[in-house]
Amino acid sequence: MAESAQIIRAEEIDPKFKYVVSKMHGAEKVTLCFQCGTCTAECPVSRFSDLYKPKRIARMVQLGLKDKILRDKHLWLCTTCYTCVDHCPQDVEIANVVRVLRNISIQYTESMPLVYRELAENLMKTGFVYVIPESRIKRREELGLPPLPKTNPGEILKIFELTGLSSLIKGSQTFERVE
Ligand code: SF4
Ligand code: SF4
Repeated sequence: MAESAQIIRAEEIDPKFKYVVSKMHGAEKVTLCFQCGTCTAECPVSRFSDLYKPKRIARMVQLGLKDKILRDKHLWLCTTCYTCVDHCPQDVEIANVVRVLRNISIQYTESMPLVYRELAENLMKTGFVYVIPESRIKRREELGLPPLPKTNPGEILKIFELTGLSSLIKGSQTFERVE
């Protein structure tokens, strides 16, 4: 299906945004995207969603549509499979651009998907992103599997506090992930 044309108003454009994004690790080459569309053609999410297109994300950054892209919940659909990175002729690393945009988006909108908050909280509490139930640990023993590696949640918490991640998590609203 052809994309419908959208009118961009001058006041929506932040000309500095692409420079802010391209200073972040992994997103340095976003301005090199020449809109070939290979990433979108290969992206497993784009196959099922008309609203998620990595090519369009790169273009929105280039155009400076800061507010629009940072508020777009479809950003969170990327599975970070890196298929787009493998195929991009310009080495844009669009999956990393999406990661950078997500990080900026949490600070800008003060919100994040509920599932990400839960994973971060689990990590702080247990050192694993999932809380592993006792029954699972027992089952491992019964099967003769080695014990799970020891974690150090205290150290993780320290890193979260030093980087400001714990206060960001506490201060953010949450939303359900979009389909
Ligand atoms: S494959 Fe690379 S150059 Fe082509 S549209 Fe995607 S990001 Fe841009
Ligand atoms: S990393 Fe994200 S944008 Fe890239 S192909 Fe996978 S789902 Fe699509």
